[in-house]
Amino acid sequence: MILEIVTTGTELLLGQIFNTNAPYLAAKLNEMGFDVVYQTTVGDNRERMSHVLQTALERADIVITSGGMGPTQGDITKEVTASLFNRAMYVHEPSLERIRMVFTRRQMVMPQSNERQAMIPEGAIVVDNDWGTAPGVILEDNGKTIINLPGPPRELESMFSHAIAPYLAKRYGGQGTIVSRVLHTYGISESALEERIRDYITKQTNPTLALLVRPGGEIIVRLTAKAADKPTATALIAKLEENLNQRIGEYIFGVDGVTLPEAVGKALKEKKMKISLAESCTGGLVTSRITDVPGSSSYLLGSVVCYDNSIKMSQVGVAEATLREHGAVSCQTALQMAGGIRRRFGADLGVGITGIAGPGGDTSDKPVGLVYVAIDGPRGSEHYKFNFSGERTYIKERTAYTVLNLIRK
Ligand code: ATP
Ligand code: MG
Repeated sequence: MILEIVTTGTELLLGQIFNTNAPYLAAKLNEMGFDVVYQTTVGDNRERMSHVLQTALERADIVITSGGMGPTQGDITKEVTASLFNRAMYVHEPSLERIRMVFTRRQMVMPQSNERQAMIPEGAIVVDNDWGTAPGVILEDNGKTIINLPGPPRELESMFSHAIAPYLAKRYGGQGTIVSRVLHTYGISESALEERIRDYITKQTNPTLALLVRPGGEIIVRLTAKAADKPTATALIAKLEENLNQRIGEYIFGVDGVTLPEAVGKALKEKKMKISLAESCTGGLVTSRITDVPGSSSYLLGSVVCYDNSIKMSQVGVAEATLREHGAVSCQTALQMAGGIRRRFGADLGVGITGIAGPGGDTSDKPVGLVYVAIDGPRGSEHYKFNFSGERTYIKERTAYTVLNLIRK
């Protein structure tokens, strides 16, 4: 069963409100196993709405609209729907009664205009609105169905879950179900990741596999399976996930919405380790991200932002000679920062970060984007060199994610 969601409202086109109804409906419908193949948005304009609905009916079996069910002249969705199916509109007395009662309960006189909300296309199924005055409408014609729902999310969501979902399940039951799982990866480029799992991406039809790049360099892999029931779909996904784990497992830091700082927290708690950081070019960003996670006080002792060389020496114990001979941006300095902060704070893991975020401050052998990271811990000390490119905040961000990814390992 092919489905299209049409959200109406000029406010949406103007970017004045967020369209939450379309993702809400899409997620619910997918869970029920329907294929949502188009989402369209159109303003409160009769001609254009009619055109959009006409087009939707040509390519979908069921069209669900949101918005334009209010009492004003600008609210035209039901009328446009009725005219597409050549139906007249009539006053639906039970709805009019309900609307009157809503006003009586609010101790208000019902404006004449609200009568419009009780106007229903001939032959439609009327759906009561628990949270507002506008009833919803289901209109079937020649194997095609248009469902009109009100725009306010509370009204739409309640109506969908109480009436529309049961209607769809009964009318078009046995659609199966769609299950998705998201693998979060870090530390590999999109093209390198794709190369490793290309055969799965191209050959795999169920589950399907898609890559998506997120800010900061995270790449997510979305697995989507369709099956008659949830356990079958889940099993299909589990099998593919197992295969993917063998190929790219080292880069996967979590599933289904886990963030890198959360993965860091989980890893440190499991290892029962406490961490301290000496941050230079990131200015405390890594520590800030770590503290985004509630309960991070159980593994983060504290950090020092040691921007100036004098602070690197006095607060984390970097030797004057190191700075003189190798410079502040060097693996030697990063190592001393990591070791120094670890000892001073009595941490299990010490992290040192120093780099050139730019613009400016670079030399021929130390370009903008050069970052050294050192980690001092029970495994000894490790150091890493990175060459990021981009503008200042991007380099800081990229460094922060990279460091978090190193810590969780
Ligand atoms: P009303 O009776 O309030 O006029 P309506 O069914 O005519 O309801 P609209 O006029 O299109 O719906 O929208 C009413 C309000 O509902 C909007 O101002 C907005 O706050 C919210 N809304 C409408 N469409 C959406 C959407 N797609 N996503 C989120 N909110 C929406
Ligand atoms: Mg309206």
